[in-house]
Amino acid sequence: MDKLRTVRGVNDLLAETLNNHNFVINKGLNISKKYCYSQIDTPIFEFSEIFTKPLGKTSDIVTKENYTFEDRSGDLLMLRPEGTSGVVRAFLNAGLTQDIPQRFSYFGPMFRYESTSGVIRAFLNAGLTQDIPQRFSYFGPMFRYERPQKGRLRQFHQFGVELLGISSSMGDLEVISLANNFLKSLNLDNKIELKINSLGDTDSRLNYRKVLVDYLNDFKKELSEDSIKRLKENPLRILDSKNPSDQAILTKAPDVLNYLNEFSKDRFQEVCDGLNSLNIDHKVDKNLVRGLDYYCHTAFEFITDQLGSQGTVLAGGRYDGLSEILGGIKMPGVGWAAGIERLALMVNANYKNNPDLVLMGLSEKFNLDLLQMMDRLIKDGIKTEILYTGNVSKKLKRADKINAKFAIIIGEDEISQNIVNLKNLKTGFQQGIKLGDAINEIKSLLNINLE
Ligand code: ATP
Ligand code: MG
Repeated sequence: MDKLRTVRGVNDLLAETLNNHNFVINKGLNISKKYCYSQIDTPIFEFSEIFTKPLGKTSDIVTKENYTFEDRSGDLLMLRPEGTSGVVRAFLNAGLTQDIPQRFSYFGPMFRYESTSGVIRAFLNAGLTQDIPQRFSYFGPMFRYERPQKGRLRQFHQFGVELLGISSSMGDLEVISLANNFLKSLNLDNKIELKINSLGDTDSRLNYRKVLVDYLNDFKKELSEDSIKRLKENPLRILDSKNPSDQAILTKAPDVLNYLNEFSKDRFQEVCDGLNSLNIDHKVDKNLVRGLDYYCHTAFEFITDQLGSQGTVLAGGRYDGLSEILGGIKMPGVGWAAGIERLALMVNANYKNNPDLVLMGLSEKFNLDLLQMMDRLIKDGIKTEILYTGNVSKKLKRADKINAKFAIIIGEDEISQNIVNLKNLKTGFQQGIKLGDAINEIKSLLNINLE
């Protein structure tokens, strides 16, 4: 039996769970469509560097959580651990290739050294900028080698959005507002709170980094092993530590917001003021840093206390440097990803898949007639299941078990008179009528029941 197990942290999604997943995904797609986000689907594996470059050598994903493999042609590939890098890559890729080949001729004064690079620059520029801003939504599986527990898996699913090409705080506000409305549409807004912080621009971050390292160096002996490592490689991420002794040290750590330069400070103020105007409650959390290297300025998380330690259901931020890290042009971006498993644990989409109608024959020789009849029933929108085996009393028991509302029973007599035997399984009332009349009756009774 052991061989039938799934890999640790990788689950089958059975109907009831999947129904909750789909509920979350559909709400996400609906709301993001209203904000004019277009759905995009990128591959679930990419060249490793699509993830390693932007995420940074020291990120958890790159150091220990990724699934990397070499394919038969020797390419180093990675199962996608997150969505943003792939979406930005796809955007750059599409922007560059959508209009090729391009043929240009030129003439003009040759005081410049040569013209080719100018033409190429103009081409790149036109191709990439003509369609911005771009808004994308996506969902699908992500893969991280983590310690599996409730709400933390090795294959998990995210729904996310990315807004490319808007560098102002309006972009941040748009995606947070979208997230807020998404959670509202799941009826979760009263169970979730928004935490927000700013990491500032590169200057501010470098400035703060120095101050933080100075402070933490005094506590080197008490810090966790992971944090000591990060002190050299990526000290900001220590702020994210869940280790209790790290957390105690961090309560008195310098506050990143005090080290933002004027520009970054004003920008963060705009975001907070904007959230107030939009009536979106939020708390500033000075220790909130996103675990990935490419974030700048705004970082945010929507958190619940209902899922134990896996309380972050949606997280995101601004990633203005990402496009350039991938070799593209400068392209500001902001977005978020929600954990579908975590949200699915909090919603109840009420899974029901019981048939309106079951079809049964007095013996198995009528089964093909029933399958023919089904063509017509499903066209009329009646959810139908055929019970192929067993005697009639067994079939009626099964109909009861699967909570069917009606049964059609046929035998020699019904076939010869061109009627069906329709039984209302709730009232027990049974009658021999024409199939068309049975359909009308079922439809009208179902409609009445639905109201
Ligand atoms: P965490 O701090 O919980 O590890 P993260 O910062 O690694 O989260 P992100 O990369 O921001 O997470 O991913 C966005 C969201 O995806 C998370 O807020 C969470 O809801 C979900 N998520 C991340 N990793 C997992 C996982 N291993 N299993 C299930 N959901 C996850
Ligand atoms: Mg993580």
